[in-house]
Amino acid sequence: MQASARGKARGGAQAAPARTSASIPPVLDLTRLAASRPVFDAHADSLQLALDLGRDLGVAGPGHLDLVRGRAGGLGALVFVAWCDPKFIAAGEHGARERTRGLLREFHRLARRHPEQLGFAGNAAALDAAARRGAVAGIPGIEGGHSIEESLDELEWFFARGVRVMTLVWNNHLRWIRSCQDGAGADIPEGLSAFGRAVVRRMNELGMVVDLSHAGRRSFFDALDATTKPLIASHSGCMAINPHPRNLDDEQLRALARNGGVVGIVFCTPFLDGAARAEEQRWRETSEYAALRGANDTELFLAQCEFLQRSATPLPLERVLDHLCHAVEVAGVEHVGIGSDFDGIQRTPQGLEDASTYLALAAGLERRGFSLADVEAVLGGNLRRVYAAVTAAGTAAATSTLVPVD
Ligand SMILES: [Zn+2]
Repeated sequence: MQASARGKARGGAQAAPARTSASIPPVLDLTRLAASRPVFDAHADSLQLALDLGRDLGVAGPGHLDLVRGRAGGLGALVFVAWCDPKFIAAGEHGARERTRGLLREFHRLARRHPEQLGFAGNAAALDAAARRGAVAGIPGIEGGHSIEESLDELEWFFARGVRVMTLVWNNHLRWIRSCQDGAGADIPEGLSAFGRAVVRRMNELGMVVDLSHAGRRSFFDALDATTKPLIASHSGCMAINPHPRNLDDEQLRALARNGGVVGIVFCTPFLDGAARAEEQRWRETSEYAALRGANDTELFLAQCEFLQRSATPLPLERVLDHLCHAVEVAGVEHVGIGSDFDGIQRTPQGLEDASTYLALAAGLERRGFSLADVEAVLGGNLRRVYAAVTAAGTAAATSTLVPVD
């Protein structure tokens, strides 16, 4: 990145009476930027609102993200993730797999119901075609390799039905990959097992993006060793800014850059800031929080989100920019993107309250000295490059057609 010289110059300009802010022409035309819809968000959990609450994501409504607010906010491409609450993983036979299928079915329904707003983007050409006609390019994803039940056939079942991104592991360890959380038993490998490496290679062949957010450190490097394609960490932050197990250290950031990959900086407040994490935990221990109710877990989750957003000290947008800028300094501006985790996080930073607000990041990056080209790269260009490389000619994704879930 260019250093923050421009930001400093602007701060200094306030002291010069002849130059008011109105006399400084805006370098970044946000209206024009929004119209070009440059944002590629690598991770959002919104499908659970559709499945559990009957929420039509094609109309504006509760939660963080829908197609209406997203398109207004410059959203061009989005990974619609199937995330499984731990209760589905614990439910035993096929619990996570069936939940994942149900969420994937919601993606298909949404694309059928609102073709003008959402287009399935099974490869980069389809992504560009959706963008040209004004629709959000939708890419189904799976969060957690538990859903494939240690079977490459299951992986291919999901691929045929549109899945193009898989976060190899969530917070639960698997017998073929260790997550970033503590508590792995003796049957959990330190990194990737032989089957884990086979999963990465098969994903390379099919044209699926390997996502290393939630992966343990050794798993992260094992996957980089096994892959022939660029990888992503779709929704993480920087360990150097806030030491949280879900964040990446500088060595990981540099390794991802050497691989040609991208880290998507997450909007999850506890990952971004240690004090915010501690404060939210205190709010979760209050009687008001305990008294929150919902007809099901997802409705309860929305009530918890609303409570924490209202109660906790707002986390300034600058903290997200700190993570973005650190990642750019360490990995390079070609290797940083965004992965909001909208509708999967309980609270957002100030100014990033929902999918209509992505371009607050553009304005913030500009203040920190980024050029328009670098802003566009971070908002989405870098992730598009990875998606094009992963789904390129020679992979199944380059030519395959979508099989309905039902
Ligand atoms: Zn996650």
